[in-house]
Amino acid sequence: MTTRFPDGDAESVSAWSTKPVRKMEGRVECPADAVEADSVNMERCISCGRCAPQFEPAGDVRIALLSESNRTFRQSFHIYLIDTGSCGACNTEVHALSNPVYDFNRLGIFFTSTPRHADALIVVGVLAERMHDVLIAAYDAMPEPKLVIAAGTCAISGGIIGRPVTGAVRVDVLVPGCPPSPFTILDALIKARGGR
Ligand code: SF4
Ligand code: SF4
Repeated sequence: MTTRFPDGDAESVSAWSTKPVRKMEGRVECPADAVEADSVNMERCISCGRCAPQFEPAGDVRIALLSESNRTFRQSFHIYLIDTGSCGACNTEVHALSNPVYDFNRLGIFFTSTPRHADALIVVGVLAERMHDVLIAAYDAMPEPKLVIAAGTCAISGGIIGRPVTGAVRVDVLVPGCPPSPFTILDALIKARGGR
């Protein structure tokens, strides 16, 4: 039942993403200011669908590594998920990684129930005011070396309603999409830890 891990990068495999970048024709009133010259900025797009008639999948979702991938993490890699104000969809896609279809345990990646055992923090959702100190506390509780992965438009840019998490903690990896697909998140995790 487990899917084969695809060859190549997420950037080059359009099927990895549920929300690939699209080329647009004509003027679109985008509430997230995500429409660019000939594509959509997937770090801002909230998947509202207003530009749906002009959608044209182009398979160009770019994971951004903001720091050097760390070879320290080449063996088992433990992640702690924190929701600072999501709609729930990004959480669902992250949790899907542990199901029999994606099965990230086969790649040596595991959820941990405490930030004290985490190599990486995955943050989803806008940064709600009351979650600010919770996020900082989780980050401070993690042992060094540690990574922070912002998954989804809300965490990266704040969407249209909130603040991003990028201003509160040092973020190492951006995973675009609203929500990002499990394979895109998995690709980001593998790149973040320094490869397979
Ligand atoms: S789907 Fe994305 S790009 Fe299109 S209008 Fe909505 S926010 Fe803008
Ligand atoms: S990025 Fe999209 S799917 Fe993820 S929490 Fe925000 S609104 Fe929900």
